[in-house]
Order: sequence, then C-alpha cells, then structure tokens
Amino acid sequence: KLSAENLNISFATKQVLKNVSVEFEENKITALIGPSGCGKSTLLRSFNRMHDLVPYAKIQGSLKLEDMDIYSKNVPVTEIRKRIGMVFQKANPFPKSIYDNIAYGLKINNLPHDKSVIEKALTEAFLWDEVKDDLKMPAHRLSGGQQQRLCIARAVALRPEVILMDEPCSALDPVSTIKIEELILHLKEKYTIAIVTHNMQQAQRIADHTYFMYLGEVKESGPTQDIFENPKHEMTKNYINGVF
Ligand code: ATP
Ligand code: MG
Repeated sequence: KLSAENLNISFATKQVLKNVSVEFEENKITALIGPSGCGKSTLLRSFNRMHDLVPYAKIQGSLKLEDMDIYSKNVPVTEIRKRIGMVFQKANPFPKSIYDNIAYGLKINNLPHDKSVIEKALTEAFLWDEVKDDLKMPAHRLSGGQQQRLCIARAVALRPEVILMDEPCSALDPVSTIKIEELILHLKEKYTIAIVTHNMQQAQRIADHTYFMYLGEVKESGPTQDIFENPKHEMTKNYINGVF
C-alpha cells in the first residue's frame, strides 16, 4: 500500500496541496481526477521525491510505501524510484535503442539484463510481438502508443510494487488509448496502480477507486461507481458533468 497522510506542499508562498490524504491499495487501480491545476501531478510526483530538486518546495506530511517512510533521510531516492515506477503524459524513452531503454535501468540497479529479462518486460507491457525484430532500433521511431508501452516496460522491468501514471493516454489516439487501458488492467494483477486522467470514461472503465481533487484538496473519494453515479460534493457533480 502506498499512502499520503496530511500532505501539505507549497512552492514558495503558494500552497498547492492542503491536507491531502490518499491510499493506493495493492491490485487496485486508483484514479485521480479534478480540474487543471488542482495538484494531481504535484501529488503523484511527491511519491517519487521529484520535488527534491526544487529548492523552494516545502513538503510536510507522511508518505509511506508499506513501512518505508519515503522522505526519510535513510532511504535512497534510487530505492524509492525502483519500488515506485512512474509513467508520464508524454512518453519519454531514453535516446537509445528499444533494448537499451530497458537494459539501462536494470544495469544501474545491478539487476540481470540479459535478453530473456528484456523479453519478459516487453511481453508484460504488450509490446514484445511488435518489436522483437527491431530491438536495436532507436526508441523514438516507435509510434506514440508503442513508446508509452516501452516506458511502461521500462518501469515494470525493475519489478516495482507501484506504478504511478500521469495522464498516460492524453497524447494518444483512441485505439492506442484502449490498448494501454487493457495493459493497465492486466498490470493490476501484480501492482498497485494510480492514474491521473482527464478522461472520465477512462476512469470509469478502469479505476476501482477514485479521488476527486479541487484547488489542492481531496474533496471526495470512494468506489469509482459511487463517485460517478452518486457524487456527494457540488464540485464533483459539476466536474463530472463537464460544467468546468
Ligand atoms: P493538470 O491537470 O493541468 O496537469 P494538475 O492537477 O496536475 O494540473 P499540478 O501540475 O500539480 O496540477 O499543479 C498544481 C499547482 O502547482 C499549479 O498552480 C502549478 O503552477 C503549481 N506548481 C507545480 N509545480 C510547481 C513548481 N515546481 N514550482 C512552482 N509551482 C508549481
Ligand atoms: Mg498534471
């Protein structure tokens, strides 16, 4: 389980997250929804300590993966990023071959990186059949959807416990989107998954649990069906009905 409790984040004088508490359960898909600027990416990135490099960021609260305190001085950020994989809106493969995109992180983490391991990761990300004859090809020649699946393969290759996805399908066409959704549903059998999405149908298709955020706060959360069929908060109603 990955959780944040009473998380407050500010950048200089601007408070971006206010007392946010969330829990992402194993073998479940959790969706984070809410208007642009409400703090979804800031929340997701905090789990990977991606604000460490922002000198004016102030982070308070308790973030935990199982018993590990993510912000403990004793926990190396490399361990966090191995255990918590992250996938972004814009697929960001390394400027390397398909093969080396997967092998690179494995090498850095001193994990085996022979071809069978690469094949396993690409298979798990539903990409192997499409690329098995082109493993030496530069990754940027793949289609957008394939690049995103490569980024997912790169994350799963490290055997993480959690995969966090920040709008993984926003830049993709409907067919590639459905493929990634099928992949996410398949990955749920093995991982804890959280996904930020602006696509309300997508949240309803794949998420077990949904959090609605508004102006840096969690306004409402619950089983996805409840949130969409019986929203309690006025803001949630407006948002899912497309009022803003
Ligand atoms: P979107 O749906 O558009 O992606 P979001 O919900 O992901 O929005 P965030 O990207 O988390 O929103 O941004 C929340 C607020 O935090 C915004 O006002 C943004 O300008 C601010 N913010 C995020 N990162 C930084 C930073 N490094 N420095 C200063 N402000 C930041
Ligand atoms: Mg965002």
